[in-house]
Amino acid sequence: MKDFSFYNTLSKKVEPLASYEPGKIRMYTCGPTVYHFAHIGNLRTYIMEDVLVKALRYAGYEVTRVMNITDVGHLASDADTGEDKMLEGARREHKTVHEIAEFYRNAFFADCEKLNIKYPDVVEKATDCIVEYIELIKTLFERGFAYEAGGNVYFDTSKLAHYHVLTRHKSVELFSAVRDDVEEDANKRFKTDFVLWFTKSKFGEQELRWESPWGIGYPGWHIECSAISMKHLGGHLDLHCGGIDNIFPHHTNEIAQSEAALGHVWCTHWFHVHHLTQKDGKMSKSKGDFLTLSLLEEKGYSPLAYRYFCLQSHYRKPLEFSFEALENAKSAYEKLMKRVSDLPDEGVFDEAIAAPYLQDFSTALCNDLNTAKALSVVYDVLKSDLSGMTKRALVRQFDQVLSLGLTETGKDISSPDEAFSRLVEAKIAERNAARAARDFNRADIIRDELISLGVTLTDSRDGTAWNLSPKQ
Ligand code: AMP
Ligand code: ZN
Repeated sequence: MKDFSFYNTLSKKVEPLASYEPGKIRMYTCGPTVYHFAHIGNLRTYIMEDVLVKALRYAGYEVTRVMNITDVGHLASDADTGEDKMLEGARREHKTVHEIAEFYRNAFFADCEKLNIKYPDVVEKATDCIVEYIELIKTLFERGFAYEAGGNVYFDTSKLAHYHVLTRHKSVELFSAVRDDVEEDANKRFKTDFVLWFTKSKFGEQELRWESPWGIGYPGWHIECSAISMKHLGGHLDLHCGGIDNIFPHHTNEIAQSEAALGHVWCTHWFHVHHLTQKDGKMSKSKGDFLTLSLLEEKGYSPLAYRYFCLQSHYRKPLEFSFEALENAKSAYEKLMKRVSDLPDEGVFDEAIAAPYLQDFSTALCNDLNTAKALSVVYDVLKSDLSGMTKRALVRQFDQVLSLGLTETGKDISSPDEAFSRLVEAKIAERNAARAARDFNRADIIRDELISLGVTLTDSRDGTAWNLSPKQ
């Protein structure tokens, strides 16, 4: 298995991803707060996380990816003040919080599907894990990290030797980051303390509330991610992802409470995607006038053209959105699709010549997830004098990670028999590419798939021949 390196916000270095169990990656992703549509900035983060998971799997890792859905506890200000965003959404649309959550969760996954973002292995709603939050908060009390004040339960950051591990900010800078809302919570002993459980909500009509040892209330936002991650992935997490705004306070607080409860290092590698911006600054849901995927579609931009737009730039750099830039990406993407669909079905798959391209593609991804470089390898293949079959097989292989739909469109298919032959040929080319990449596991899976379709393969020096086994 190849070493897969990318920037770790914790160590501030590009370094290989290490895993607690060899070859297995336990990955947690902060999911959306479902009080509104995801904007295309949010979706940039989810696209890049999707590429990361696929690139890890492509490199041979077994990844389990868990995502939460924040449907309670995320207040308007990250400093635990303001209103629960879910309530804000419910009021705006004259619906219940539950209706809002259902609607926007479905809308989010519909966007993901259009963008070829794979559904995570586990998706968990925050409101379904109340028992887990209560248990975790009890542990924090037992270990002396929690206190009650003004009716709420808080995490005591002064008890930690290293609260600022992720940011390495000086306290004074953190205070100003916390204070992105003028209101201050007077109950906190220390300004960086944060709420674990709200019992004394200032919103009398708070719709979502549960019994707890500290009174009827609801969980803070940060506790959700720690508890959901531990529920599904245990006490050792290999990889945690989110947008850069999550670094402080959300992820900083997740680390604080998780490590205080566990008594050991919790997550070893932190992946953060920089923001999509507009000329006038960061795109933000709370500002209201944000761009959605549907709006791009209405204007004639396919979701995959937007994915292409995102892949062209590095995840650690801010990406400025403009329709002019998207137009350029759209035209490049359409040309690329056409070049791939025009590839002739000639020649055989040539393993030896294909190998360096596979190598370049892997190297680009394993070196801080350089998607722009990985895309340029696709163009190198198309420009090369490889056979049409080899090019097609390589592009298909690359598209397992890029997920730009490059090889699905193909040519018009005139008959079911022709369609079947094309499918088999494509699978054989994919298997050969897997073998060239020494991914024998994948090659065997493809062979088995073909056998299940009744296809027998015969490998020889001249390539792979196939025929249909007689029906039983
Ligand atoms: P939210 O739905 O607000 O909880 O955010 C969902 C994800 O989108 C989080 O990982 C955020 O860090 C990320 N995010 C928020 N704003 C942006 C932006 N402008 N560009 C990229 N990612 C963002
Ligand atoms: Zn989170």
